[in-house]
Amino acid sequence: MKKGHVVLVTGCNRGIGFAACENLLSKGHAVIATARDKKKGEQIVKDLKVKYPKGKIRFIKLDITAQRDVTKCFNQIEKKEGKLDCLVNNAGILYNEDLEATTNSQLEKTLQTNLIGPFMMCRKFLPLLRKSKDAKIINVTSQLGSLENSGIDFAAYRISKTGLNSLTRTLHFDLKNKKEKIKVFCVCPGWVHTDMGGPRAPRTPAQGAKSILFPFYSKTAKSGSYLQDGKKLPW
Ligand code: NAP
Repeated sequence: MKKGHVVLVTGCNRGIGFAACENLLSKGHAVIATARDKKKGEQIVKDLKVKYPKGKIRFIKLDITAQRDVTKCFNQIEKKEGKLDCLVNNAGILYNEDLEATTNSQLEKTLQTNLIGPFMMCRKFLPLLRKSKDAKIINVTSQLGSLENSGIDFAAYRISKTGLNSLTRTLHFDLKNKKEKIKVFCVCPGWVHTDMGGPRAPRTPAQGAKSILFPFYSKTAKSGSYLQDGKKLPW
């Protein structure tokens, strides 16, 4: 099993992001845990360092909707690690409302967080991903972003995740066209018991993290694919 890859995860202070950091640390990878709340982020890094005393993890404050934070985060990693092997765009928000009940502000906030944030992260970090021999981008999406399986409610969220899927495909083809080796995926964790998923969700955050990290551990997962637990989802 590969070890020592440098992996950045967004939205690490709780839920699937936290579980992804723990998964990566337990397998010997160097984790850059990021969160918009400095106090909460620093605390989870402290806790994980106690649990994995030999693990490599450090915290960087990052609000993915703030270009300034994105640039600062990039500069810090460029200086210290000098490369990035995997970018996990995990941070996200969800409003329950159907389309008619969705406000402009809810749609704007959702697109800022779930689509424009990952867009800024992907663009900014390409130069550091190019320094890796095995670079991957994992965009954490949802089955609710599927056009083929679309449904009711969660209007802004659905629109944002469909956009994130499109970002994944677009970036995949751009990179392929430039003969670059960086692979890009959009991956659903399944329905997970977190603040977002709610208490009725059947999956644990650790199971959700396993699903989103599948392409990271896989040697054969195809760039540009939309996956859950390593299996293709309908677009
Ligand atoms: P969660 O428990 O609500 O956690 C969301 C995380 O995103 C929190 O750490 C939150 O930080 C962070 N975040 C939100 N806006 C941010 C911003 N502007 N900058 C940085 N961090 C930000 O949700 P989750 O269930 O773990 O979801 C993680 C990902 O999985 C999301 O992309 C979600 O859409 C996707 N997903 C989840 C499910 C599910 O059933 N749970 C299903 C499908 C897909 P704060 O604490 O500061 O708010």
